[in-house]
Amino acid sequence: MSDNQDVNLPSNFLRSIIENDLASGTFAPRGDSARIRTRFPPEPNGYLHFGHAKSICLNFSLAHDYDGACHLRFDDTNPTREEQEYVDAIIDAVHWLGFDWGENLFFASDYFERMYAFAEYLIRAGKAYVDSLSAEEMRAYRGTLTEVGRDSPYRTRSVEENLDLFARMKAGEFADGTHILRAKIDMASPNINLRDPAIYRIRHAHHHRTGDTWCVYPMYTFAHPIEDALENITHSFCTLEFEDQRPFYDWLLEQLRAGGLIPSPAPKQIEFSRLNLTYVVLSKRKLIQLVEEGHAQGWDDPRMPTLVGGRRRGYPPEGFRLFAERIGVSKSDSLIEYSVLEESMREVLNDSAERRVAVLDPLKLVIDNYPEGQLEECTAPNHPLKPELGNRSMPFGRALWIEREDFMEEPVKGFRRLFPGNMVRLRYGYVVKCLGCDKDAEGNVTAVHCEYMPDSRSGTPGADNYKVKGNLHWVSVARGVQAEVRMYDRLFAHPAPGSRREGDAPELERDFLDDLNPDSVSVIRAWLEPSLGEVAPESRFQFERHGYFVADRFDSKAGAPVFNRTVTLKDSWTKGGK
Ligand code: ATP
Ligand code: MG
Repeated sequence: MSDNQDVNLPSNFLRSIIENDLASGTFAPRGDSARIRTRFPPEPNGYLHFGHAKSICLNFSLAHDYDGACHLRFDDTNPTREEQEYVDAIIDAVHWLGFDWGENLFFASDYFERMYAFAEYLIRAGKAYVDSLSAEEMRAYRGTLTEVGRDSPYRTRSVEENLDLFARMKAGEFADGTHILRAKIDMASPNINLRDPAIYRIRHAHHHRTGDTWCVYPMYTFAHPIEDALENITHSFCTLEFEDQRPFYDWLLEQLRAGGLIPSPAPKQIEFSRLNLTYVVLSKRKLIQLVEEGHAQGWDDPRMPTLVGGRRRGYPPEGFRLFAERIGVSKSDSLIEYSVLEESMREVLNDSAERRVAVLDPLKLVIDNYPEGQLEECTAPNHPLKPELGNRSMPFGRALWIEREDFMEEPVKGFRRLFPGNMVRLRYGYVVKCLGCDKDAEGNVTAVHCEYMPDSRSGTPGADNYKVKGNLHWVSVARGVQAEVRMYDRLFAHPAPGSRREGDAPELERDFLDDLNPDSVSVIRAWLEPSLGEVAPESRFQFERHGYFVADRFDSKAGAPVFNRTVTLKDSWTKGGK
């Protein structure tokens, strides 16, 4: 790994910061030999989405590339929204993406004792006080961007009174919202985040790990820097919306460092731009709404931009890692095209997925001169570029399923597949000549007839005597496996769900739900080649000419396969819509 100078790593501003810190010896290794420490700090209040994947890949790969360590830390400071179910799902998702934190699994709630002691320290140092204004009054006192704030009448409480009140807050004497502990900084600061921010609040709530031990809980902005410092994090990477919080992060750690409560030097907070992606929403609030209102069938619906959804869709973890590498990291807001994500998935799948044959819109092809009841095995390579992946055999017989669109009774110009009189190759099998078709009373084609050329079998010397333009895939009627296939497409039909459009009346407010794609899934019955009958859940394949598909993680069973379409072979979405 490490010598970054001569490894071919994409450079970015985070790497430059780390390299400068390493060169100047800012952070000496503490505890073990890790040269830097990063962390991924999710709040266990929902499932991880594609945006989190960017942060996970970033933090874990930087730690890996610079011989450091990356912690997985749960920021579980808000008991009313957090649950063990989410903790388990997050652990699962980060492992699935391919990362490991070793011993470094932490919970903010493990530091509650120390955080409480640190708050007491701030009170003693005259840097924190208990305020008893109502939430509404506090808002009024805070001021605005253009107007300075005013001191709360409780700001001058004595250290003794503050310590007593804080202890009684902890002891459960007061109702939620009656008192709050605030840092004492500057009500006139141009940065609103420094106008005596709240650091501890009363919450009579059951915590998924600490139970009913606590009824005061630290605010995220107080807890997070402390967690970083106690874990010896060197570089605390977060998204840009925390930029205005950095002065408080630094202020707090400076107080605690001066008091000898945390090691020195303190961690550095460094912001990068969050992932924004077209055609999806990446906010837990909106994702929860999609699930709760039934627009998606759960967090792991294959159309959801969650990691469990992507997994079920068939997106490989390597695809997310490639995507993260490709989009890089910067400080300016950007919107990434969804097709960049899909292209990353295709690239990984093209390399790794074995090829199989599926007929999604079946029409029967009858080879009139092929003996009734006879079957022969044709050999098909599992991967065109990887002979080491071997071959499989596909039974060929008198009746085959082909795609309905591969036959035209009256061909349009340029059509090279089956039409009366034309010859095509049945892939890995024989060349056939189309003779005509059967129709029902309404004129719908019910079967196509052809004759085969017995000396044209693929792989035999005679095969080369036939020069044909069409090359069709097929599945044996006698031995094919019928399966449910879910044809997924994008969940939203507009690149920026809920955004204003040109010509919108000024008073018009759009709802992101109005941009849901009405055709984001259709369920079909398809015919699959026999080898697909017994595949393990989550096996990924390229169905030739159709795209990449995965055996559904939960619904696919041996003998009764269910497939989800992961992504088409080519991008069918042009800029701005289908
Ligand atoms: P959301 O905004 O969707 O509610 P969040 O930021 O509240 O997400 P957290 O659990 O707090 O969710 O996030 C954990 C980490 O993931 C944070 O460090 C956060 O900066 C990062 N993160 C969240 N969303 C994105 C995103 N879209 N792009 C990059 N990183 C993200
Ligand atoms: Mg957050």
